[in-house]
Amino acid sequence: MTGTSFQAGEGFAVAMDASDPLAHFRGRFCLPMTNGGDDSIYLCGHSLGLQPKTASVYLEQGMRDWAQLGVEGHFHGKNPWMPYHRLLTQQTAALVGALPTEVVVMNSLTVNLHLMMASFYRPTTERHKILVERGAFPSDQYAVKSQIHFHGFDPATALLKLTPRDGESCMRDEDIESLIEREGASIALILLGGVNYVTGQVFDMPGITRAGRRKGCVVGFDLAHAAGNILLRLHDWGPDFAVWCSYKYLNGGPGCVAGCFVHERHARAWELPRFAGWWGHDEKTRFQMGPDFRPMAGAEGWQLSNPPILALAPLRASMEVLSEAGLDRLRAKSVSLTAYMEFLLGQHASPKLKFSVITPREPERRGAQLSIRVRGKGRELCDRLAAAGVIGDWREPDTFRVAAVPLYNSYQDVYRFVQHFSVALS
Ligand SMILES: *Cc1c(COP(=O)(O)O)cnc(C)c1O
Repeated sequence: MTGTSFQAGEGFAVAMDASDPLAHFRGRFCLPMTNGGDDSIYLCGHSLGLQPKTASVYLEQGMRDWAQLGVEGHFHGKNPWMPYHRLLTQQTAALVGALPTEVVVMNSLTVNLHLMMASFYRPTTERHKILVERGAFPSDQYAVKSQIHFHGFDPATALLKLTPRDGESCMRDEDIESLIEREGASIALILLGGVNYVTGQVFDMPGITRAGRRKGCVVGFDLAHAAGNILLRLHDWGPDFAVWCSYKYLNGGPGCVAGCFVHERHARAWELPRFAGWWGHDEKTRFQMGPDFRPMAGAEGWQLSNPPILALAPLRASMEVLSEAGLDRLRAKSVSLTAYMEFLLGQHASPKLKFSVITPREPERRGAQLSIRVRGKGRELCDRLAAAGVIGDWREPDTFRVAAVPLYNSYQDVYRFVQHFSVALS
């Protein structure tokens, strides 16, 4: 739906919710309450997704199996723990557009990023740079700088940062590609977010991958803000690896187990150095407990430890809800909800209310998140909104981030948010 067909009154939001085929999925989630006992207007799914009601059922099942079976739960639980992480493989592969052998659920995001760089950041004197976005998420910045140090290079010269043009907030796709074209021969690794966490900009992942690979660079993506938010086709786009967390748009719960993609062309790259652990060892001989590591083919060959079953249980619940709703349908609703929010914000734009949306306007260049730059209000705005039951988040120095998540947010959430926002700002 385009902006021109939206209407400003509340009746429009009510009608949109009434005809939304995904509206009932809201009832599958626990919505935080305000002090007054109403549902909050929860627009913070880009930071922590809400709890699916089935999460506790799956968690309790794991607890019960452990109580009743002890170690036998590995093979005789309702869902035996031994192959438990595989319950997530098909849905995870569909989520990122990959073959089942290209994905694995393990560890946390930053750990996976390090494991991937251990294998795929192979700097040489001529080619040792890492290309990142300026203002990349701090954990990613620390991780890449520490990897550069680890290999004996200097981040001051080895870290190359993509920077928007003067006066602009987002990167232009053509600038990214021309930088790769210009500097590619010295770049060992391109590591970008699929969706920038501050601006909400979606990067042109297929274009960046093509440009990088043409220049002989390894290409990896951090999909923390992309997985479960936008449609992904990792196998076809062809990056070498990708990592993501599962507590944002995937609703797996705080600190939940993360995801990792390794492209099929590396499935049997036994010569790649990797940090090994017993869970990455060939399954057939793992329990012979021999001294020599023989990795499994595919992404599972990067596993270290036996996975935390009790943390995987809520993720199983949330991935089921996600696939039941359908990624295509969710994305279509998301595009519409976000455009509606932008439309309503536009209705309130005036010289008096000093805000601007820094997220790109084109639907294909953004996901659910809108980043609103607010002049001269700061945290006070957030506090006022919180008092009105709106949960979003503030990024210093001047950005309020909100995401209408198609699984559990409604058009009326968006309508009410914009009402509160314009009052809080005036
Ligand atoms: C949320 C987020 C992280 C968080 O890392 P963890 O290892 O899960 O704590 C890292 N990078 C990006 C880009 C993120 O958005």
